[in-house]
Amino acid sequence: MVVLQITSLNQVSGWGFYAHRLINRQAVFSLPPELMVCFKPHIRFISEKAVNPDRRRYAVKREAEKHFIDLDVYGDSALVLLPIFWSDAVKQFGEDSLRMSGIAPWSTYQTFLQLTRAFERKDLQAILRLAADLGHYIGDIHVPLHTTKNYNGQFTGQYGIHGFWESRLPELFAADYNFFVGKAEYIPNPQILIWETVGQSHAALDSVLAFEARLTARFPEDKKYSFEERGGINTRVYSKAFSQAYHQLLAGQVERQMQHTIKMIADFWYTAWILAGQPDLEVDSEPLEERDSLFVPDNSLKNIRQHETSINGLPELFWKSSGKPQYFWPIFQKYREKRPRFLPIG
Ligand SMILES: [Zn+2]
Repeated sequence: MVVLQITSLNQVSGWGFYAHRLINRQAVFSLPPELMVCFKPHIRFISEKAVNPDRRRYAVKREAEKHFIDLDVYGDSALVLLPIFWSDAVKQFGEDSLRMSGIAPWSTYQTFLQLTRAFERKDLQAILRLAADLGHYIGDIHVPLHTTKNYNGQFTGQYGIHGFWESRLPELFAADYNFFVGKAEYIPNPQILIWETVGQSHAALDSVLAFEARLTARFPEDKKYSFEERGGINTRVYSKAFSQAYHQLLAGQVERQMQHTIKMIADFWYTAWILAGQPDLEVDSEPLEERDSLFVPDNSLKNIRQHETSINGLPELFWKSSGKPQYFWPIFQKYREKRPRFLPIG
């Protein structure tokens, strides 16, 4: 049981752990030399820590809502309606209500500001940690399913589509993607770009859902899914044929979103550094101490959105009728009783 749970932790994530790591890693190569000297020696850290925000979701209050925004909660003109600035949004909607539907566009900008301050202090540890975090959040707002309350196709009979789009497709096809996105550029108005990006992701949602539905009508169940071994467990996955067909219908959508993510991350890192006055950064190639790799789950967070949950090989009895996995928290707790500190692997 414990093995099962650990496996699920490793598989789940916005963009999938694999894609998040790859994206952060690639962004480093777009940096100008002045920043490259500081980032390149720590490229492993930047890449590994790309998934920390997802690990924090069960351990840190107010983390979960930083990964998404349910635009459809606000109706068709959400992007016109929602204030660009957090303080205006709080005045208009109230903080609690905003947090319930996700605050990704505003909190991504907050992380950008924190990174700028870390550059001002020349605090290398904080710079790298926040740069990795920012890469994650910028990644999440590029995932169309992070902009809707139907985040896992649960309202349209497409349960599992979240992990399909953001994990399964990159795992199968990213080796052929082109990640040359050009050099980082200064972004005069990061907030506007964040909102434009969220808007573009949301606009892509239609095809994400419609193409999967179209293919589902064509593929019988036993051709749509297959089984693959993951971490020693026979796991149900979208079949290669179904994935290939979806990949073709999407016509490079996942690749384009990944490219845009990589460029935007490099642009934001660079812009934060410019705004901090282009400090000379000390070149330190000593590996950073892994301070925050321990995440103790917080009981009160057990009901947070598992926005990334993918289909997997777990028996049906582990699924609630709502489509949400039931296995996750009780086993987590059981494991925690045995070992007071829970160390995620991967
Ligand atoms: Zn995330």
